[in-house]
Amino acid sequence: SKKSLKGFFRRNLFVLFTVASVVLGVILGFALRPHNLSMREIKYFSFPGELLMRMLKMLVLPLIVSSLVTGISSLDRRASGKMGVRAVVYYMVTTLIAVFIGIVIVMIIQPGKGSRDSPTVKSGNIESIQATDAFLDLIRNMFPPNLVEACFIQITKCCFCCDLQETVEETVPVSGSSAGVNALGLVVFSMCFGLVIGNMKEQGHALKEFFDCLNEAIMRLVAVIIWYAPVGILFLIAGKIVEMKDLAEVGGQLGMYTVSVIVGLLVHGLFVLPLLYFLVTRRNPYSFIGGLLQALITALGTSSSSATLPITFRCLEENNHVDKRVTRFVLPVGATINMDGTALYEAVAAIFIAQVNDMDLNFGQILTISITATAASIGAAGIPQAGLVTMVIVLTSVGLPTEDITLIIAVDWFLDRLRTTTNVLGDSLGAGIVEYLSREELQNQDADLRNSVIEE
Ligand code: ASP
Repeated sequence: SKKSLKGFFRRNLFVLFTVASVVLGVILGFALRPHNLSMREIKYFSFPGELLMRMLKMLVLPLIVSSLVTGISSLDRRASGKMGVRAVVYYMVTTLIAVFIGIVIVMIIQPGKGSRDSPTVKSGNIESIQATDAFLDLIRNMFPPNLVEACFIQITKCCFCCDLQETVEETVPVSGSSAGVNALGLVVFSMCFGLVIGNMKEQGHALKEFFDCLNEAIMRLVAVIIWYAPVGILFLIAGKIVEMKDLAEVGGQLGMYTVSVIVGLLVHGLFVLPLLYFLVTRRNPYSFIGGLLQALITALGTSSSSATLPITFRCLEENNHVDKRVTRFVLPVGATINMDGTALYEAVAAIFIAQVNDMDLNFGQILTISITATAASIGAAGIPQAGLVTMVIVLTSVGLPTEDITLIIAVDWFLDRLRTTTNVLGDSLGAGIVEYLSREELQNQDADLRNSVIEE
């Protein structure tokens, strides 16, 4: 039994390290708080965490492009079509369920009822943003006019949300939140490119091989970075705890709002999604989630589903043995558009703001919030606090004051971590479900491949 214990520890070493890093990070953070470190000292202290963020972000761009291009080009057109439809149906259904749970919980808890706790920070330029403009931006971002530029900027220059993005960044010290890629644009391009290469047969072979090798090389880099992840996560979490404002401020309405979001995320992540996974696959969802632990903790530490993507890939492929053809196709798309946690949070936040403003919402308005919260979660990039920015779509759709976003900013860094973890969980369980539903096509393709090898 000593041997099996040793084997258990070796297998779960990374996971143990990562869990330990969270615990140590929290302890270290609280131990340092009384010392009132200056902003500069906090920055120095968080440096190892910042490095992890940078390393992960460095891999995201080549990972999204190479995995989508190889994933799609290696599937035949029917298989990729069916897989795509299954993934999109899963994304839509689970996001709508998340929104529904959020609405029910915020209606029951009613965190915003009673007289207003805190005044809103008035901001000049937020009011002019229209929901239509934000919707158009979402579509615009799908078609980046310049691919190279899309690798550097998060949102298009003509974006109407930029003003709000700036306002939010001024108010919240988000570390490098806008430094990213236009993932949505790259996903759309890579999918089309993969489809075309797949159809080119012999001619497209060299390109396919190239992206295949690129993907393999990136995954090997992930295997190296993963060793550093626990150190980075420790400092990311400790740094944030040292930096955060006094928790005593978060009482009353804001406290109840925080509880509402947390309860919603827990119900969705721990019961609804696992139940769905079980109903479809008849497998134990919690052992599947156990294999994802490292990705979930990385999401908690980085608040970015894009930055977590490399680790999510590794957990699904290495620990849960999900077929690479599925992960390569489904994960980059999921990390970009499937955000259950964000959708749930947007719905709760919008209704909370309505309650604070003493505004009774009718059924039509609640329906509008459900639809726009879903759209806003699709439009949110997988970066820290992106959901706060896309909230404007939800608020304007029912005529709520957009400047009231500032009411919930104080707790957003914390809720962001939790909703990002839910987002990553949703993407991963989705990959498991899509793999199960697509097993026939995958087996057929394996058989075709074997036959062609024998013929050759
Ligand atoms: N930070 C979230 C994510 O990366 C997006 C959000 O702000 O809700 O998934």
